[in-house]
Amino acid sequence: MCGIVGYTGAQSAAPILLAGLKNLEYRGYDSAGIAVLDKGAISMAKASGQIKNLCQKTNDGAELHGSAGIGHTRWATHGAPTDTNAHPHLSNDGKFAVVHNGIIENYMALREELMEEGFVFASETDTEVIVHLLDLYFKATGDCKLAVMKAASRLEGSYALGVICAERPGRVYAVKEASPLILGVGIGENFFASDVTALIAHTKNIIYLDDGEFAEITPDRITVYDCAGTPKKKPIFRVAWDIEAAEKGGYEHFMLKEIMEQPRALKATIEPRIKDGRIAFEGLPDDYLAGIEKIVISACGSAYYAGCAGRYAIEELCRIPVETELASELRYRNPLIDEHTLLIVISQSGETADTIAAVRECKARGAKTLAIVNVVGSTIAKLADNVIYTWAGPEIAVATTKGYTTQVAALNMFAVYAAERLGRISPERYAALVEALRSMPERVQRAIDLNKNIPELAKRYHDNQSLFFIGRNIDYAICLEGSLKLKEISYLHSEAYAAGELKHGTIALIEEGRLVISVACHEALFDKMMSNIKEVKARGAKVLAVVLEGNRRIFSEADDVLFVPVGEPLFMAAIEIVPLQLFAYHMARENGCDIDKPKNLAKSVTVE
Ligand code: GLU
Repeated sequence: MCGIVGYTGAQSAAPILLAGLKNLEYRGYDSAGIAVLDKGAISMAKASGQIKNLCQKTNDGAELHGSAGIGHTRWATHGAPTDTNAHPHLSNDGKFAVVHNGIIENYMALREELMEEGFVFASETDTEVIVHLLDLYFKATGDCKLAVMKAASRLEGSYALGVICAERPGRVYAVKEASPLILGVGIGENFFASDVTALIAHTKNIIYLDDGEFAEITPDRITVYDCAGTPKKKPIFRVAWDIEAAEKGGYEHFMLKEIMEQPRALKATIEPRIKDGRIAFEGLPDDYLAGIEKIVISACGSAYYAGCAGRYAIEELCRIPVETELASELRYRNPLIDEHTLLIVISQSGETADTIAAVRECKARGAKTLAIVNVVGSTIAKLADNVIYTWAGPEIAVATTKGYTTQVAALNMFAVYAAERLGRISPERYAALVEALRSMPERVQRAIDLNKNIPELAKRYHDNQSLFFIGRNIDYAICLEGSLKLKEISYLHSEAYAAGELKHGTIALIEEGRLVISVACHEALFDKMMSNIKEVKARGAKVLAVVLEGNRRIFSEADDVLFVPVGEPLFMAAIEIVPLQLFAYHMARENGCDIDKPKNLAKSVTVE
């Protein structure tokens, strides 16, 4: 998920690795490390926190000798961001070092198997199984390439790997499966990295590895193999990007990159938790909801709106009352919370001050606490009794997108899991809902693909100074987040209204030319929404509707239409928000706003 670099050539490897890691810093990370090969031995340095700590430890790399090595910035998914858990990881005999980006889904089973074989584990990471597998297969075959191939064949999940072996001087190995990894072709030296930014100072000649491929790299030769070990001819591409564009994966802004990354982020959040058709959350006991009479979801900003959207499925499927409450409000009330309450808190960073205070307040009252956070080892993750991590990877843009959708997905999964544990849904419904969760990444991709007209719409509407969002049920929760997104980055005023509420006041503000974004994806309420749309049209509003793919009835009223794919109505939030994120993005772009760093906002709000 974060960064990898690898080098072999005539120069000293450590400074090159450190410089490469610095160019990957923008991706966010919590620790870093390098390992270098010299005279048949591996030397290694790791440090939690910033890369400058690693530079200090190694005297800018001068302390580590050798001209081949691997480096890593870690975004912890398994185990806290400590020095020990930082990569590289070493085999017990010190002959192999590995760096890894991604998640090994079957690491528990492999860990048990390897422990039985006598391997000793030093870290809590999923990654460490890889280095012991390499050791195991190298001892069995004496062939390093074969060991890499065999080890990779045992792994399930996503991985970009960098490997060095003390018995193979001047040689580095790179392996890719569902996690980015590219090779850089130099003269008398070669490289690999998780993205172009780390390589661009050295070479613009790139080989893109495909999933299942691995490479054996020496200073003057790169050989790429398929997963069966057959050599493959790979084309060399010349990148035309400058550093800035490379950091953003070719996108103009981090926000757009992160919107586009949502299918992948959702897959990482959902898939590893579904095993043989059943949902499992690590650390949650079978009787997790025993004695719980009420669920309170508390958070701030978009995370709060994720709670508003996620609440519907929990209530509907579990038949337990669910309240949503802003963390900044909850802490200053005398809330009715006790040991029969489950408090679910949501925070991308895990450091949101108001949310931390809410957890403390509710814990003191005896509530059970469950955190949905993206950053492993963060304050909220440590404070709560249990954690569900959203594996969205680092989010750089201040306005959240993949953070929000993965939070909604985690809540939706929890709803199905809890309903089943409580015996409130039939096996058939359970199976159908699990399938619906599994298809979420695909449907988000479809929601991106369906709406190519958004830049055009933004050109048409960007000078509307005040807009409305209306919707009912989950669509209303989506309006709250859609409106916030627009305000955050385009600075246009907008209000989100439950569609049935307009006539109780604000309808006076609907006048000629006012843009009303009408989210009407909830089929059971479509006719009601049509009435509300007619009401605003009668007062001269322009209507941009968001409806399900295939809906033709909307054309009689709407001026413009955005589509989202049909799916389980309870899980529409993560799908429906996508066109609204894109709309906010393009409106802000048309208005020349600083999209990734909107004024007056911080990525993680660590003050009250
Ligand atoms: N899953 C690995 C860990 O937690 C790698 C994380 C990453 O991609 O940086 O150590």
